[in-house]
Amino acid sequence: MKRFLLMIAACAFTLLPLTADAAEKLRLLIIDGQNNHNWRATTPILREFLTRSGRFDVSVATTPKEKSPSTDWSSFQPKFSEFQVVLSNYNGEMWPEPVRKGLEKFVNDGGGLVIVHAANNAFTGWPEYNAMIGLGWRGADFGDRVTTNDAGEIIRTEKGKGPGAGHGSQHEFAIRLRDAAHPAVKGMPREWLHAKDELYHGQRGPAANMHLIATAFSDQSKGGTGAHEPMIWWTPYGKGKVFTTVMGHGEDSMKCVGFQSVVARGSEWSATGQVTLPIPENFPAADKVSSAQ
Ligand code: ZN
Repeated sequence: MKRFLLMIAACAFTLLPLTADAAEKLRLLIIDGQNNHNWRATTPILREFLTRSGRFDVSVATTPKEKSPSTDWSSFQPKFSEFQVVLSNYNGEMWPEPVRKGLEKFVNDGGGLVIVHAANNAFTGWPEYNAMIGLGWRGADFGDRVTTNDAGEIIRTEKGKGPGAGHGSQHEFAIRLRDAAHPAVKGMPREWLHAKDELYHGQRGPAANMHLIATAFSDQSKGGTGAHEPMIWWTPYGKGKVFTTVMGHGEDSMKCVGFQSVVARGSEWSATGQVTLPIPENFPAADKVSSAQ
């Protein structure tokens, strides 16, 4: 009996720490509160699928909602260091300097940052933010543009030349992987059909050390540029990794299984450098969109 108990104890010692590690959730903070998009509808979608993945413990920090000189920002003091990854669903007024410095330190120290759709429209006048995101919704004179040719070779267009930020009419479009070995997208089809969405083009910025993961062809018949535009990319910042997708205009596009997988896996990768989340079985195909219920 004593020997039996010792065996159980030994098993417990070897198994329990592993189980605890595997079950440990990543603490993820969504920031919202101002956006020219319907953040009140999209934050719950983000929160739901990130939580459903089982990998994240999701919190939300909401900024003051009114744009006014008298807006009291004192209530918005997110403690970034309590999280492993921050996801921005925010496109509004500039944050107070202590919050900006806090985010810079968080990412510089190795924290993950995930930028979704219009979050890359924000903070034109915040140089470190532009360094973090690489490319943003900016005018043509702001910085370089990055596209690819059909083969996926990078084309840099210097500032002042070519179109600035914009998008044509919403439609379903193909996401084409350009770095299929990147952990966030590894195992996804090389090309898959994204649900109806805005297809951003002409994004501009310093794009220093930017790593392009996926593009979409911006069809001129839809009001696009005729170029392969960046859809998913990442940028190193200090010890941190900033992961961006410009997909996700509204509720329909955020219910795309592909979008949800990209954001969940990208968030995990941004936080840890590894991805354990599987590719969903109902992932979109090259000619077929797939929406989560
Ligand atoms: Zn939009």
